Amino acid sequence: MITTELSNVGNIIQNQREFFNSGKTKDVTFRIEQLKNLKQAIIEHEQSIVEALQADLHKPEVETYLTEIGVIKEIDYAIKHLKNWSKPKKAPVSFDFFSYSARIYPEPLGVVLIIGPWNYPFQLIISPLVGAIAAGNCAIIKPSEIASHTSDVIAKIIAKHFDPAYIAVVEGGVEASQKLLAEKFDHIFFTGGTAVGKIIMAAAAKYLTPVTLELGGKSPCIVDTDINLEHTIRRITWGKFINAGQTCIAPDYLLVNKTIKKDLIDGVEKCLKEFYGDNPANSSDYARIISQKHFDRLVNFLKDGEVIIGGKTQPSERYIAPTVIDNVSLEDSVMQEEIFGPILPIIEYTDIAEAIALINSRPKPLALYLFSQNKNLQKRVLQETSSGGVCINDTVMQVGVSSLPFGGVGDSGIGNYHGKASFDTFSHNKSVLQNSFWLDLKWRYAPYQGKLPLIKKLLG
Ligand code: NAD
Repeated sequence: MITTELSNVGNIIQNQREFFNSGKTKDVTFRIEQLKNLKQAIIEHEQSIVEALQADLHKPEVETYLTEIGVIKEIDYAIKHLKNWSKPKKAPVSFDFFSYSARIYPEPLGVVLIIGPWNYPFQLIISPLVGAIAAGNCAIIKPSEIASHTSDVIAKIIAKHFDPAYIAVVEGGVEASQKLLAEKFDHIFFTGGTAVGKIIMAAAAKYLTPVTLELGGKSPCIVDTDINLEHTIRRITWGKFINAGQTCIAPDYLLVNKTIKKDLIDGVEKCLKEFYGDNPANSSDYARIISQKHFDRLVNFLKDGEVIIGGKTQPSERYIAPTVIDNVSLEDSVMQEEIFGPILPIIEYTDIAEAIALINSRPKPLALYLFSQNKNLQKRVLQETSSGGVCINDTVMQVGVSSLPFGGVGDSGIGNYHGKASFDTFSHNKSVLQNSFWLDLKWRYAPYQGKLPLIKKLLG
């Protein structure tokens, strides 16, 4: 294990400040080289990454490639577009500014801090790092201590391929986070729970450090009757139970039109058998709960409502079967807290207005899912609800589209990233206005006598 002495944190930041001030990261060619370096480092260590995620979460190799190593797609996208993103952009000026030119120069922020969670512990560190590198920053990374094997692999990869004066890893838990948060950074990018998000923002406020907070919450999934039932069932079952439900944008609970509820439940049961066999505990394609603490928290939810599918647990393995719960009350803890595990409550509605009202009575979610081909219904849900993002007739896939900014709103987060949005998050847009010397009209200079009519005309 590569551990950075916490007492060393101040030195690392100092070295990074010096590296940043050398101007090296402002060179776009350097940034592209570093992105290629990062990609190569990931490819070289693929096997260690797969093994670490297997050890932390029993993550199936296919899921590791799809959702962790797949971050390479983000690197390729940044390499392809970086020259264009980093160019100064001409901005239009109005007629009264005819002797001026206006430009927007994206410039790096400086030394940034990236703090990650344990559920996609590799991707959720590397993906913001791609933005930080692309925008020309130095970065300190703090992976989650709870996914300890992945944290070690990240530390090894970064130490082997990057100068710590440019990119460094600080491993550890709350103590390490707090030590880092006591220092001044130029941006803090945090992925984790809402409660810790508030701690991060409070620490950042001390130095007026801007933050991106990628948080969680309860993402609802509405299922209307105007659907292809088979496709709907498969897409919901996959999105909910991938990584054993420990996905920030997993459908947290279903809001189902009453008339198709029974068919949907029967279909989910059949689909689970197709995916994981008669006993998912024996399937190599089904993950485990990250820790005893999280396992205990989830087992408590099984007391709520009526378990109609699954419900089995194996504490020694931290296994919880894919579970569907019916007849929950909105006051039950399973409907109050973010579930973040393989437990799916189903709530029925007769009129879409009920589903919308329920969503709007709660904090704004990170994702909202709607299964319906009815254009009017789609329009209504889009207009009458607010969420970080929406995915219609599928689940989770929105995270894989680099051209879509990814982030929350309200309690589910502040700011966004992926693709160009990552570059923007880690850049400052410097506005530059330039005048010329060929003319100097006197309308704005004192004495003002007689100039008001012209000023009023210009404003009008
Ligand atoms: P967490 O908030 O407990 O921890 C995240 C990070 O914060 C870890 O690195 C941890 O060491 C650090 N941390 C924990 N307590 C701290 C404290 N008191 N002070 C400073 N730092 C502290 O989150 P988690 O349990 O790792 O992840 C689960 C949460 O993250 C869920 O709510 C989930 O929805 C959310 N999440 C959001 C996204 C997203 O993209 N929006 C992605 C994944 C997870």
